[in-house]
Amino acid sequence: MERTLTILKPDCVKKQLIGAVINQIERAGFRVVAMKKIKLSKETAGEFYGVHRERPFFGELVDFMSSGPCVPMILEKENAVADFRTLIGATDPAEAEEGTVRKLHADSKGENIVHGSDSAENAAIEAGFFFAAEEVV
Ligand code: ATP
Repeated sequence: MERTLTILKPDCVKKQLIGAVINQIERAGFRVVAMKKIKLSKETAGEFYGVHRERPFFGELVDFMSSGPCVPMILEKENAVADFRTLIGATDPAEAEEGTVRKLHADSKGENIVHGSDSAENAAIEAGFFFAAEEVV
């Protein structure tokens, strides 16, 4: 069974959409195997998105991701990585398919409600960033 790492981003928490988005995720067949609520510091947010360090939006991304609590989760399902990215839709909600999480709830390319790992390999690295082995059940 494949796993992916998601983060319900600070805009999702601020809009009180944690339950609605988890409901959509579970209805799509994903099992939540780890979950916590955490407020990232600028340092940890920058570390998580380190791959984007040289991009022009990096500062904005770090400020946003550390602006309030977020909810990282590990999700399990056959084909979890690809199926989750289909469920959340394109990075820019204006380009996201109807019915996707970002189309339904996101305001902009920057504030786009959820993160989803882009590969099974990165999912395992990102899962280790947030969760200890005994928290994954
Ligand atoms: P994520 O990694 O969060 O799942 P993604 O894989 O759809 O998103 P990436 O291209 O990896 O998109 O960008 C990572 C995050 O950086 C985006 O989710 C978004 O929050 C932010 N971002 C990307 N492009 C822009 C941009 N042009 N302006 C502002 N923020 C951006």
